[in-house]
Amino acid sequence: MDAKQQELDDRLAEILRQAADVASQIQRREQGPGTPHYDQIETAAHDVGQRLSRMVQQDRIAQVSANHATEAVCPECRNKCPAESNSRQVTSVDGPVELMETVAFCGRCRRSFFPSTDGTGI
Ligand SMILES: [Zn+2]
Repeated sequence: MDAKQQELDDRLAEILRQAADVASQIQRREQGPGTPHYDQIETAAHDVGQRLSRMVQQDRIAQVSANHATEAVCPECRNKCPAESNSRQVTSVDGPVELMETVAFCGRCRRSFFPSTDGTGI
């Protein structure tokens, strides 16, 4: 692991520690006095994890989508085609996520396609 990766990993650990503390405080307020069942603690904690997962998925897809140019090469005929970003809701294992994705349309082949994410699409 290089220095930048270590720095990011340390930062994530600290932010997650803070998030766990805030989530625990929210749980304590919502559950009130008394002893909650363990499944109440686990379910509330799992909800926080799913919420984080959806945020990471959304950010990561937006990063990947932003890397695309406004044109892409058709995988069939190698024609340069216009590409645009669209918003779409998908249901991930952690719940609904609003995604931005780039779609190109080839007028020659009369079909839409997803440009490759390796940066060689154009
Ligand atoms: Zn084509």
